[in-house]
Amino acid sequence: MRQLTYDGVPIPGLNDLVRTAIRLHPAPGVPRPDESHIGGPLLWPSDEPWPECPVTWPPDPDASDDAWMGGHPLDGPVPVMVSAAQFFRDDFPELPFPEGTDVLQILFCPLEHNSPYHQGPAVRLVWRDSGEVGDIADPPPAPEGAEAAFLPKPCVFEPCSIDELPRLCDFPAETRAALGIPEGASEDPEGWPELDQYSKIGGWTAWSATDRVDLGCRECGEELRQTIALATEEHEVGCGCEVTEDDPVGWSFSRQGVLNIFTCPADVTHPVKVRID
Ligand SMILES: [Zn+2]
Ligand SMILES: [Zn+2]
Ligand SMILES: [Zn+2]
Repeated sequence: MRQLTYDGVPIPGLNDLVRTAIRLHPAPGVPRPDESHIGGPLLWPSDEPWPECPVTWPPDPDASDDAWMGGHPLDGPVPVMVSAAQFFRDDFPELPFPEGTDVLQILFCPLEHNSPYHQGPAVRLVWRDSGEVGDIADPPPAPEGAEAAFLPKPCVFEPCSIDELPRLCDFPAETRAALGIPEGASEDPEGWPELDQYSKIGGWTAWSATDRVDLGCRECGEELRQTIALATEEHEVGCGCEVTEDDPVGWSFSRQGVLNIFTCPADVTHPVKVRID
């Protein structure tokens, strides 16, 4: 095993820094509403309206966590959100599920939105109990003006697991203190394993294009945790699986980036944050 050090000093608690991510390996497919997928039909009750985009103008402070610089005017129709992904607890027990729920549904408003930390689709997470869904709704049409780059092609998953270490900016405060890492330092130690681009559950954020800022929970102050990464490209690295197609989903987040969803470790129903990196 490689000896990982910072300035020649072994990193204390190194093993505790390892997170095992579930790499999703999306592959083109024809998923059903009762399957986990990207871009397929959601298990959505026919008697429940599809949610509208939370990014309105004037802003609704309860609907969205980011400081949006604009939004859909409230004097016109607000776009209805469309399917981005769906994860069943049976397939991905590593994800957080509030009690009584067994499926996580991710919806996008597939238009451009702007906040200081996020330029891209608006994101909403819905957890539900699949047992309570009777008749299933037909998927809504994409809203007028939808960006093709935010509309995923249907994919199923061929998951594997991969161990990841954090970038220096994600080191816990104790580790930074023990190593005497100066305030503001962000260069990874020499020989530190890279975090490459792929869709995954859990693990660490690559922080390849954005800085790690303002990730405290609005409700309780806990530091939010990297939970789901949706990547523009699937790079063949790290896990040893063969990657035959580098953009099976066909979506693209700013500058070929990764859309990362952060949730609160204290209570997953607290507002999420999104960082495109
Ligand atoms: Zn929107
Ligand atoms: Zn919280
Ligand atoms: Zn793999």
